[in-house]
Parts: sequence; C-alpha cells; structure tokens
Amino acid sequence: MGKEAKTKKCKFCQSEINSKAKVCPVCKRNLKSHGCLAGIFSFIIVIAGILVIGTVMNGGIQKEVSGVADKSEYITLDEYNQIDTGMTYEEVQKIVGSAGTISSQVESNGYKIIIVTWYGNGTAGSNANVTFTNDSATAKAQVGLK
Ligand SMILES: [Zn+2]
Repeated sequence: MGKEAKTKKCKFCQSEINSKAKVCPVCKRNLKSHGCLAGIFSFIIVIAGILVIGTVMNGGIQKEVSGVADKSEYITLDEYNQIDTGMTYEEVQKIVGSAGTISSQVESNGYKIIIVTWYGNGTAGSNANVTFTNDSATAKAQVGLK
C-alpha cells in the first residue's frame, strides 16, 4: 500500500497517468474510446443504415411508380373513355379488367356512394377514379392516363 496513486500507461502516448483517469492529461485523448476501431464500427453501422433505408425507400418509390404488380390492373385512357355514367361497378370492372381500390365509401339516407381508384398506366401518380352512387357511375376523373 504505497502513498502514490495507482498509475497506468496511456495507451496513446504511453505517459504514466492516474489509473482512474478517463482522459489522458498529457495527450488529452479519451481513454474510454476504442479510437479508430470505434470509428470504423460506427462508420459501418451508418453505411448499413443508409443501405437499409435506401432499400426500403426504393421499394416504396417503385411501388408508387408501378402502383400494382400486375399490368392488367392498370387503367388506360382508352378504358377510361369507355366508362360512362350510369354504369355499374361490375360493368366498369369488366372494362378496366380489375376491381381497383375502393378509396372512399359513404352510406347515408339510402344513398351508398363509393369512389373506386385505379392506378394509371401513365406517369408516376397517374390514376383514375369513378364515383358510384347506388352502384351507378355518377362521376369520373383521371390524371395522367395514356
Ligand atoms: Zn496520453
């Protein structure tokens, strides 16, 4: 049991320093850090994170662009032009070749209103929607169909 405080060697500059020191008083480096190795590890983690986020976002963007996996589910401008007011949802489904997605459904006072959306074959975000009131097309709208 000496009177001197316990010492250790700084792993960076080899100075004799207090064994409890967290930062070397000579070279000022943080003795708790693993130096370069920690830097490399956090670099790898950041890169991996970017790759994962990139993949997820890419998937999301692709889904948005293509909308649906099956080409037959797209609505074309030609199909859109064949949709007339008064047609039933079933008749419209036959023209387009798919059921689309019911994006809105309201029922009140004996009226049942649904809005069905189909992804378009045109640019990203192109789509068409048809409003049916009591299963009879009452309105239609499209964006960017070809
Ligand atoms: Zn040091």
